[in-house]
Amino acid sequence: MYPREILHWINDAEVAASSAQTFDKRCPIDDRVVAQVARGTAEDVRCATAIAASAADAWGRVPPPRRGEILGRAAALLRLKERELGDIVRTETGKPWKNAVAEVGSSADLGLFVRTERAPVGVCAAIMPFNSPLAGIAWKVFPALLCGNAVVAKSHELTPYTAVAFGKLLQEAGLPRGVYSAVRGLGPEVGAPLVEDPHVNLVSFTGSVATGKLIQKTVSSRPVLAKVCLELGGKNPLVVCDDADLALAAEHAVASAFIDAGQRCAAGSRIIVFDRVYDAFRDAMLARTAAVKVGSNPDDDCGPVISRQSFDRVISAIDAAVKRGARLLTGGHAIDALAPGYYIQPAILEHVAPDDELSQTELFGPVTCLYRVASFDEALALANSTPFGLTGAIHTANSHRIEQFITRYRAGLVSINGPTYGAGPHMPFGGVKNSGNGFREPGTEALDVYCEWKTVVVNHDPAKV
Ligand code: NAD
Repeated sequence: MYPREILHWINDAEVAASSAQTFDKRCPIDDRVVAQVARGTAEDVRCATAIAASAADAWGRVPPPRRGEILGRAAALLRLKERELGDIVRTETGKPWKNAVAEVGSSADLGLFVRTERAPVGVCAAIMPFNSPLAGIAWKVFPALLCGNAVVAKSHELTPYTAVAFGKLLQEAGLPRGVYSAVRGLGPEVGAPLVEDPHVNLVSFTGSVATGKLIQKTVSSRPVLAKVCLELGGKNPLVVCDDADLALAAEHAVASAFIDAGQRCAAGSRIIVFDRVYDAFRDAMLARTAAVKVGSNPDDDCGPVISRQSFDRVISAIDAAVKRGARLLTGGHAIDALAPGYYIQPAILEHVAPDDELSQTELFGPVTCLYRVASFDEALALANSTPFGLTGAIHTANSHRIEQFITRYRAGLVSINGPTYGAGPHMPFGGVKNSGNGFREPGTEALDVYCEWKTVVVNHDPAKV
């Protein structure tokens, strides 16, 4: 029976719209008004999404076999109620009875295998940051070419030659002419037209959140859409529990914070330490940091930041945080002996509020902050308290804490008793929240970026309709 009044279905109950208003539902068969439908509001949407958010956590922890059991029962119920549901579909759409019933059957059968093929996307725009110019190109260009695409690469203006050198290497390897090109220039002058270009079917971007969001918006306003893969920034936590190996944790915290002068999306910029071991860990980390060799000689550990502009930005962010009450424990200044190179002495701060700009935004320099927490739950809440979700690490010997961190810290990569970085050619890498839009590179998961799925339906028995 089609009801005369159709309400929201929220939190497993039928509820009226907060507006208390309705609109008519007419049946396409005879133009009759068959029901009054709740006219929802933004407030109703907020209510439903808040309930979904609180339910998602528990549902995500229900073991998959149990989830399958419930969904299997739902599919069986669809079949059982075929007539009732077919009647609803018919009233709503006006479809002939047999088609309405067939729709019920195809809904119940979702999950059956069909034949699918991967097809090249076509032309890929690969837009890259400056921090690892060669790895950045390799991560995008190898899978893109392997999948049969042509690539136009736009690497960062501050690292202008790597992409051209890579082109020469591909030519030497025998790649056909024109399959790979690299355009040089500034972001708004070359990157933007590349994103707008109608030949481009995929924009694969690695860089800052601001540019990533701009690219997403630009692609949305193209006459014809393109696929967009975004790999963006991070504000990655490394949690040191009270049962951690403090020497190992300090070693990994220092490497996470200061390798590549902190210019890494996976840099450990928030070190969250249990109260009970805070002082001992801080001493261990300060001692390790003092041993970091700053310079660009073969055995040095921490090079310069990329530009004078970056240098000024990082120094002034530290100064501003100190003015807001942060305590600078070490570093954070220029190194006279290495001037005019853009070297910054690795910096550690404490007493930085969790909602301070320094805790919430990516600095992309050799700077990290220490936070003191009383419990595991507080550490987890702090770890999750930024708009980013790229990587994170936990140092503990407790398997329960390890499992809880893996499940409840929202990020694309979780590392146990290690550093916050840890990508490899075989590993899918990427983030959630502002750290990315769901794709992963490289690994076999990169095939989902550089290929389109094509579903093929073949009727081998033409006699059968
Ligand atoms: P950026 O956003 O400033 O620049 C990245 C690229 O975008 C450059 O090639 C630039 O020329 C181009 N660009 C700028 N404006 C553009 C526009 N309007 N349209 C198209 N292209 C434009 O980033 P950056 O400073 O080079 O790199 C640092 C950022 O990259 C950090 O946020 C870091 O976390 C992120 N990153 C992320 C990953 C990852 O895998 N998630 C890896 C490395 C770096």
